[in-house]
Amino acid sequence: MSKIKIVSIVFLLFIFSLGIGFTGLNSNSIQADELKNKQVKLAEEIIKSIKFQKEIQNELETIKNKQQGNPDDLNIDLTLEKTFQKTLENLQIQLLKDKMEFQLVNQQLLSVGQTAALPYLGDGSYVWPVDGYFNVSQGYSGRHKGVDINTLGAHPSVFAVQTGIVTKAMDEGDGFGNKVVIYHGENKYTLYAHLDTIKAKVGQYIDEGTVLGTVGNTGNSDGDHLHIQLTFSGDVENNTINPWDYIKSAEKK
Ligand SMILES: [Zn+2]
Repeated sequence: MSKIKIVSIVFLLFIFSLGIGFTGLNSNSIQADELKNKQVKLAEEIIKSIKFQKEIQNELETIKNKQQGNPDDLNIDLTLEKTFQKTLENLQIQLLKDKMEFQLVNQQLLSVGQTAALPYLGDGSYVWPVDGYFNVSQGYSGRHKGVDINTLGAHPSVFAVQTGIVTKAMDEGDGFGNKVVIYHGENKYTLYAHLDTIKAKVGQYIDEGTVLGTVGNTGNSDGDHLHIQLTFSGDVENNTINPWDYIKSAEKK
């Protein structure tokens, strides 16, 4: 091959790669919108599936109780039980796929600095955020924008109080120390501060009760405790509401 041919091929390849670059640039916002739509649809699908899953689990529970009450009358219930169990299995496989795809789309969006406005991912109930410790050492006030749960020097697991996606998982030098922020959809967010270790990743899909890290004493803190903040208006660092009103009746794991 002559030198000129090689040079022109390299040149064409160069132009081609520029072309791709430019196309990518121009369609970035369109692509982000598509990803956002996709993520919202997946979120809706996941919410529906989780609801359906709970309904089937309730039905199965009812059947089990009936069987225990009257062990001789099993004929109809057994068929029904099998159908429900098969449906549940299929649903759980689909749910797992949807969650993984949701997470992937979320990470793609985050990589271009975008977040979709998601529907509320929770079910209205809360999980208690600290494993095995229930003592509130400082309540919510104008000067204290969250609630402190004291762990007496121990480093138990910190749980996500509701389902959502991780939007922050680092120490930003703002006094919160190691912090995790979770977006639950609509404008609902929770923030978990002063963590010893962080076990969540930005972009991750988080079921309620998932371990986010461990209680610690990082940032502006004078002893091991979890500081948790809650907002329904988008700004979980500044514009918060009292989390105690919601977590006081939380399910304790
Ligand atoms: Zn605090």
